[in-house]
Amino acid sequence: VNQQRVEVNILLLGAHSVGKSALTVRFLTRRFIGEYGDIESVFSRVDRIDGQEVCFNIWDSVYTQDNKSLSVSDKQLQWADGVVLVYSICDRRSFDVACQQLQQIRRSRKPSSVPVVIVANKRDLHRHRSVSSEEGRLLALSHHCGFFEVSTAETYHGVLLVFHRLVDLVRESRALR
Ligand code: GDP
Ligand code: MG
Repeated sequence: VNQQRVEVNILLLGAHSVGKSALTVRFLTRRFIGEYGDIESVFSRVDRIDGQEVCFNIWDSVYTQDNKSLSVSDKQLQWADGVVLVYSICDRRSFDVACQQLQQIRRSRKPSSVPVVIVANKRDLHRHRSVSSEEGRLLALSHHCGFFEVSTAETYHGVLLVFHRLVDLVRESRALR
């Protein structure tokens, strides 16, 4: 067992109002508060996973609509060891934004690309669904990403799985380096 503590920088990306802050706060505190400001911040949490201490640094980004510049900055991508890319299943446009951001990510760091887990959030609002699970899964498959459909509002467990899966992917990518 490796007793050394590892640091993992995780960048939250996705359109406005898809639940990036809700996901971050859920992971950090297990709670769902309901309303979150648009404050760009980095949070930390230490966990023990498979006997190893893992320090999560989580950058909860704010999506700014600006057609002139790319919505993912080089600074963000240089910082990140892994990305959680969020869209809402009831917001078609947020799925389009996720596709665009994924392309930006995959273009920016060739040949070694950053691990990404795609999160289809707000599963509890399935009556208003406008993005099918298959579309999300296909996007993830075609870009070698993890994929989870979750309701951050309803459960903590699904959110925990997202972050743990990403840590696995980051470990794999580090082992390959
Ligand atoms: P951000 O702009 O991506 O950071 O989105 P927020 O985390 O601020 O969330 C935007 C809104 O969506 C807030 O009103 C949240 O309460 C709501 N929200 C987040 N996750 C869920 C979810 O799983 N289900 C539902 N119904 N609402 C959610
Ligand atoms: Mg936010």
